[in-house]
Amino acid sequence: MAIIVQKFGGSSVKDADHLRNVAGIITEAYDKGNSIVVVVSAQGDTTDDLIEKAAELNERPSKREMDVLLSAGEQISMALLAMTIEKMGYPVISLTGWQAGVKTTSKHGSAGIKNIDTERILEELDKHKIVIVAGFQGISKYDNITTLGRGGSDTSAVAIAAALKAELCQIYTDVDGVYTADPRIVKNAHKLDEISFDEMLELATLGAQVLQNRSVEIAKKYNVNLEVVSSLTKAKGTKVVEVTKMEKMLIKGVTKDTSIARISVVGVADVPGIAFRIFDLLGRKDINVDIILQSIGREGTKDMTFTVSAADADYAAEALHESELLKDKKILVDKDVAKVSIVGAGMETHAGVASRMFEALYDAGINIQMISTSEIKISVLIAKNDADRAVIAIHDKFEL
Ligand code: ADP
Ligand code: ASP
Ligand code: MG
Repeated sequence: MAIIVQKFGGSSVKDADHLRNVAGIITEAYDKGNSIVVVVSAQGDTTDDLIEKAAELNERPSKREMDVLLSAGEQISMALLAMTIEKMGYPVISLTGWQAGVKTTSKHGSAGIKNIDTERILEELDKHKIVIVAGFQGISKYDNITTLGRGGSDTSAVAIAAALKAELCQIYTDVDGVYTADPRIVKNAHKLDEISFDEMLELATLGAQVLQNRSVEIAKKYNVNLEVVSSLTKAKGTKVVEVTKMEKMLIKGVTKDTSIARISVVGVADVPGIAFRIFDLLGRKDINVDIILQSIGREGTKDMTFTVSAADADYAAEALHESELLKDKKILVDKDVAKVSIVGAGMETHAGVASRMFEALYDAGINIQMISTSEIKISVLIAKNDADRAVIAIHDKFEL
């Protein structure tokens, strides 16, 4: 029997009506003779609400306790969905991450999946049950509950599909596929029939939250048959594949990331080893640095500017201030920034893509603070309140 993994995001299970709708999709696939494993997210805004509740009591709670709290969101939806399916007369069982054998690293808040011990899931499938697994969570080698980072249920689903060698992994969400830009921002964005793993990975990493980037990495590594579909319409979704059939489109999509911050270290000595010492210090604190810009040395000093995730910004600035090297230096943190990017495997072989993107921003009167490029993407750092306008202007310029 073919195994199909179906993942339903928060908006798809947000209330009783949506749960009944999802139960209909699941049982329809089950009735066709498939073995069904379902991965669910927390309902609606539950995860955000839980984060707020925690902040009321402790502004810096331990990451371990945050994981205990946030994992509860998925545990609620898995039980409610199981009850809905039970009521329809189908055999069903819900499993938490640990019951389903999802073994992760110990990095609370953004744990990585190490392996999935599929024994329990297979046992339940053998009994012809619909198996519902709580997404976003697993268990560390110390038997602690972990979570996989925001949007992590996508990764749970793809990893479970890879471990079970499932025929298909369907990511059901509130849009009917992957678009050339967030359809909530760009009204004339259009749906892609297919997108390559590499392009999807860039888009996801650069802010298109429709799939968590780690899920795409796993899908590529294990060649998971992955598609993004709507839980609300029957429209054909988007297939994420190794190589797209269509001729290489120059640009596949435009995206924005508003959860970043820019840090500048002003007036550091213009001598060898400074970049190494700054980024080594941040690396040791597990802080990822993205775009880096170093000014030209003048009068023996230079400035170092870089971006980090907004969540890491204060911690990074604190760590730099405390270092012997920078304790008397000015460190500026700006959280009113956004990164806007274009992604497409086709741009590798085309000149003039960057200038076209910059022209779109110039026409819209938007100032570029930093630029970064790779073979399949170009990113610019701009003011946060210009982000949506920038996405629309660039999308129009490339006539996507
Ligand atoms: P879920 O709760 O199902 O996990 P998410 O909110 O995490 O859903 O992801 C779906 C959302 O991603 C859409 O509602 C859409 O606004 C947003 N999005 C951003 N960029 C894109 C894109 N390029 N294509 C489709 N959706 C996108
Ligand atoms: N509930 C988690 C979140 O909101 C995981 C997910 O939805 O994928 O980030
Ligand atoms: Mg999501």
